[in-house]
Amino acid sequence: MADGKARVILGVSVTPANRHDHDEAVPIVDEALKLLKGPPEAVCADKAYASGKNAQAMESRRIRLISPPLKPKTYTGDEFFTIEDFEYDEENDQFTCPAGRQVTYTTTEKKRGRRTYRARRSDCCDCRLKPQCTYSERRHLKVTRHHASLVRLRADSKTEDFKKLYATRAPVIEGVFAEAKQWHGLGRAWRRGLSKMLVQSLLVSAIINFKRIMATNCPLSTLLFALRALIRQLWSHLRGADRCPHDSPSLQPILG
Ligand code: SF4
Repeated sequence: MADGKARVILGVSVTPANRHDHDEAVPIVDEALKLLKGPPEAVCADKAYASGKNAQAMESRRIRLISPPLKPKTYTGDEFFTIEDFEYDEENDQFTCPAGRQVTYTTTEKKRGRRTYRARRSDCCDCRLKPQCTYSERRHLKVTRHHASLVRLRADSKTEDFKKLYATRAPVIEGVFAEAKQWHGLGRAWRRGLSKMLVQSLLVSAIINFKRIMATNCPLSTLLFALRALIRQLWSHLRGADRCPHDSPSLQPILG
């Protein structure tokens, strides 16, 4: 995670390739918030982070999430109405379908916590829009419990201001990635394992932030805060606080 103006690295997260990046958004923002005097105007992230869960977490921190949600689909692709065609009424916790009928809450899945809503059988059976809505006798909808935040994120993602802010994301963070890979060896892992990869990433981040101190005119205090946090994170990691149980217990090779 990097500051949009100074391009200082504020947080680092290392995950295995088979785990979704999505779940890393909130912890890394919380780490960065410890370094800042107040919440940032916005946090820009790519589409992988656009979910109701992340949108709700950012709302509760008074941060605007700039991450365009994927277009919703049904199992028929574009043939049926998607969840976007159903208007959500957060106050009454129900949807209004394209034919203007109510789709009401029924149950919540125990395992994944997804909420199910369904239309009345009597409404659907004589509906002229049924061929565009469902093959079943009535339409069901499944959403996460953070659906209201996702609706707001979708609405926001259509504004010009959102699009402008999103366009600023790639030059900043992709530039930082490229710099780390091309000039500081982050393109290859020095050692195997998440723990050692995190050490490498933190060291490279610290070097990049030192370069910013030398070259930019951003406030020195911000840079020193960022550096202190990275060094603290590295130190606690080296002492074993964050060590991944799958890694070898010794970090001596990387230090030597
Ligand atoms: S089929 Fe049912 S849910 Fe779909 S538009 Fe018609 S009334 Fe609404």
